[in-house]
Amino acid sequence: MNLPEQGTTRRPRALVIDDSRAVRSIIRQILADLSFEVHEAEDGQQALAKIDELGGVDLATVDWNMPVMNGLQFVEALRTKPEHAGTCLVMVTTETDMDYVRRALEAGADEFVMKPFTRDVILDKLNIAGSGA
Ligand SMILES: [Mg+2]
Repeated sequence: MNLPEQGTTRRPRALVIDDSRAVRSIIRQILADLSFEVHEAEDGQQALAKIDELGGVDLATVDWNMPVMNGLQFVEALRTKPEHAGTCLVMVTTETDMDYVRRALEAGADEFVMKPFTRDVILDKLNIAGSGA
């Protein structure tokens, strides 16, 4: 992921993308505890707009099933933008079929977390993806 440039005090930014307010709240708390500045979006389209508004995020957790624009479509759309190539993308989803995992990784996701998840699983995946605190 893109670490803040030396000499800046910007905290790493995370965007939690999920149509469930409850899930967003759980993930927000985990990431806030890791000192991320946390933002939220309810679908992929909102997420793309939020990323443009913020000028980029370091990490996004991405639900698969969402209205308007789903998580896979979001990953595909973001990965067409070279300026966001360094954004760490972690899919968080109830889809457990290995075909879904493969499709997400092929689209450009960095990690895949299956719901229901625990805090430790999220931390493990962030460490694997190089985004741990
Ligand atoms: Mg959903």
